[in-house]
Parts: sequence; structure tokens; C-alpha cells
Amino acid sequence: MDKKDATVISSSIGVGADKYEAVIGLEIHAQLQTASKLFCGDSAAFGGAPNTHISAITMGHPGTLPKTNKKAVEYAIKMGIACNCEIVKDNYFARKNYFYPDLPKGYQTSQHTTPICKGGTVHISTSLGEKEVELNRIHLEEDAGKSIHDLHDDYTCVDLNRAGVPLIEIVTEPCLYSSEEAYQYVTEIRKLVQWIGVCDGNMEEGSLRCDANVSIRLKGEKRLGTKVEVKNLNSIRNVKKAIDLEIARMIEIVEKGGSIVQQTRSYDADNDTTFSMRDKEEANDYRYFACPDLSPFHLTKEFIESIGAALPKLPKQLMASYQQDFGLNAYDASQLCDEKDTADFFNAVAKETTNYKAIVNWITGPVKQYLNDNNLSIGQLNLPAKTLASLIQLINDGKVNFSVAATKIFPLLLQTDKQPLQVAEELNVLQVSDTNELEGWVDEAISKMPDKVTEYKKGKKGLIGLFVGEVKKLSKGKADPKVVTELLQKKLG
Ligand code: ADP
Ligand code: MG
Repeated sequence: MDKKDATVISSSIGVGADKYEAVIGLEIHAQLQTASKLFCGDSAAFGGAPNTHISAITMGHPGTLPKTNKKAVEYAIKMGIACNCEIVKDNYFARKNYFYPDLPKGYQTSQHTTPICKGGTVHISTSLGEKEVELNRIHLEEDAGKSIHDLHDDYTCVDLNRAGVPLIEIVTEPCLYSSEEAYQYVTEIRKLVQWIGVCDGNMEEGSLRCDANVSIRLKGEKRLGTKVEVKNLNSIRNVKKAIDLEIARMIEIVEKGGSIVQQTRSYDADNDTTFSMRDKEEANDYRYFACPDLSPFHLTKEFIESIGAALPKLPKQLMASYQQDFGLNAYDASQLCDEKDTADFFNAVAKETTNYKAIVNWITGPVKQYLNDNNLSIGQLNLPAKTLASLIQLINDGKVNFSVAATKIFPLLLQTDKQPLQVAEELNVLQVSDTNELEGWVDEAISKMPDKVTEYKKGKKGLIGLFVGEVKKLSKGKADPKVVTELLQKKLG
């Protein structure tokens, strides 16, 4: 794979482009967040000094016996249930034989033709509407190690820490028709694996990797065109870019009278091109056979059901319940469901106050702003749900206004364990809503503007704002505007 072979593709699609339709199928590998590897107790953690997470089993030494990690099986089932798959009860692992320097055993242990999860759907929203993306399967397999080509000029280094880390491969049917659909699908899968806690979804570290299969055909044609598989897509944006490049490249070839060669290509993000890694080998013979070292495993109905019962509410279900049970609009509900930690925080606050809309406003307003400014995630927010609920209550009771709460009280709550009321008292920002106390400022404001009083009495009721503003100024912002308005209306007649 030499980058000099890169075919530079013009991104402008020719005149004939709208005759064609793109067909895309995605294969996503997600590393499971188990403590240990798929078939032994070696650490499955990312990184570590090279070749330190490796025992004789990872190294594939003769005479070693692997054993299946139950947690990994559980995680695969979790994802299968979340994607509406059929969970297969009788399972085994096969050996996919091939030689590769970072594959110490000489074969990859995978499920090949017998995936643990069959079929399934994933819901996405695009600019064209809602869609159920059809899955072909989700299967379990082990990851390979890493070959590092750029450390030395003359040789390649191999780090086997990753060898044997459990993966699920989530494979769609060829049922996506644009890069936008692909983008939304990968976004949804990433959110889902994080949501149910089976994968951290980190594409930069390679915990989530996507290969895109792309073909084109004339609109109306039912048969699939020859596909190209694009690898090395390490961000969701790159998935979209690479697919767009491939579609344009293929249309250009076909428009010029050429035909598509089945290939594996690689995306080069630096130059924003794809280049050929290899033409599809004539029917690779991996000599699959059931791994004799691993016992087949049977899943009971009860085991599968217990995993389903322990799943958290999924984003789509939660969004619906926010709208039905809490009266939130669809936009607010979807914002809360962007990340599980956000939804969890909302749920915790919603246990303390029923002012749901106010909670949304806080989470999408001051809280989000603070997290963004400090590059923090909501899990790192030092604000107990109860404290935010009391702050919301304080505003509701007219004791402080939102702006004071957001700019003065909120920052202090993040630094101390104090309650909002105490902080408001110490800052001397509690609103005055006692009529007797307010009357002094109200009378003073009225006596300062006799002309305006006359105008008001003649019917210019809009002037009320001017008086309220004056009272606010006189009270240094502490007068409760609602009570002040009522008082002014009474006094001005
Ligand atoms: P392979 O054996 O080359 O891995 P598969 O049939 O297992 O091929 O499919 C791999 C992925 O490619 C799947 O996501 C599938 O939907 C997709 N795919 C298969 N054929 C096409 C095609 N002609 N165009 C686009 N995607 C395709
Ligand atoms: Mg493939």
C-alpha cells in the first residue's frame, strides 16, 4: 500500500450524475469494554507499554487453552437486544486462517457464518425523514495486534496488546443510499454502544472502526453494482467524506465508459483522497472450521431475558417518555438524549423538582456553557441534582431571578457544598418581594418622574416598564419585578 499510488479524484460529479444511485453497507467494529480479553485474562485496556498485555494465550503458544469471556458474550447480546436482533441460542467460534504479523496464532477466532445476533434494525433521522437501517448481523470476534510501520525506516514493529481484545462487528445490509444516511447511522451506533456501556466509542483510539462498502447503479436498477470497500475511516466525518469521494470517483469511471473494479481502498485524510490497497483477492480461502479448543456455548432464554431486563431505557424510548410524561417538546427531549450522562443528570434533577422545562433550560444553558468553557463532560460536573433543584425552586419562589442565579450563584455552587439559599444570602442577592419593603422604592420612582405619571394616566400603559426599571435600579436589582409591577399598577391607578 503505497500512497504514491493514490488516485486523485476530482470531487466534481459530472453532468450524468443524477442518473445514478449510491448503495452503501457499513461494517463497524466496536471494541468491548471488558476488563480482560475475549479468550484469556490479559488486560483489554487501550494502550499500555507495548507487548505488556500478553500471556502465552495471547501469543498463541502451543498447548495453551483459551476460554470464552462471559462478559463479552453478555455485551454482544446487549447490543443485539438494543438493535432488535434475533439472539441465537447455540453458538460456537470458528478459526479464520490467514497469516499476518500481528496475528500471533495464525488465525483469527471469529463467528464467521454463525453470528450471535441476526438481523435487527437501527433507527436514524435524516433530512429526508426517519429510517430503519437493516442489520445483517452482529458477531463476536477477537481483535488483531498492531503493526507499526512508521517507528523505524527499515522494519515494522508489532505490538500485541490489542491482540485478543473482544470486538463486535455490526454489519448492515446494503440499504443506505447516501453519505448522510451513513453519517447518521454511525453517529447512532456510536451513541448506542456508549449508552448501553459496551464500548467507549472512541474513534481516534480505534475503539470504534468503520469500513464503508460503496457501489453505484443506475436509478431503478435492482441488482447491486460492484462494490469497493474503504478502510481507515477514523472519524464519522471521514466516513461521509470517503463515501462522497467514492461515489464521485465511480460515477466518473462509469461515465467515461470504464467499469468498477472490486477493491479494498484506504482513505487518506491528509490529502482527502482514497487509494487502492488491493484488488479483491480471488475468493480468499480462509479454511474456516469450528475452533476445537473452545467449547460451543448455549444461551438460555432466561439468561438472554435477564440481560434485556437490565438494559437502560434506550434514547428513542426515553425521548418518547420525556415528551409524554414530562411534557417536553421533541427538540428538548432529543437534546437531553444526546448522551446518557446528560439524560441521567436530568432524571436525577427531575426526581427533586417537577419544573421539567426549567431543568432543560439549565442543562442546555448555563450548565452546558460551563462544561464547554472548561472542556468538561457532564459526568465531571460538581453539582448535586438536589442543589440544582433547590436553585430552580429559589427562582420559582421569586427569591432570585434567573440571571442572578446563572451568573452569580451557579458558579459558587460549583466550588462549595453550600445550598443556593445560603449562597444567595451571602451574596446579598435575595429578591425583595415584601410589599412593605418595596413601597419605599416604588414611591421614590413615582415621585422622580411626574411627567411620565401624567402620560401613564392618560393611557400610555407601556410606561410601566420604565417605572419597574427605575425600582430595579433603586433596589440594586433586588426588587421582585412581579410584585413591583403589581404595586405600581395599583398606585398609578
Ligand atoms: P464481504 O464478504 O466482502 O465482506 P459481505 O457480503 O459480507 O461482503 O458484505 C460486507 C458489507 O458490504 C455489508 O455491509 C454489505 O451490506 C455490504 N455490501 C455488499 N455488497 C454491496 C454492494 N454491492 N454495494 C454496497 N454495499 C455492499
Ligand atoms: Mg468485509
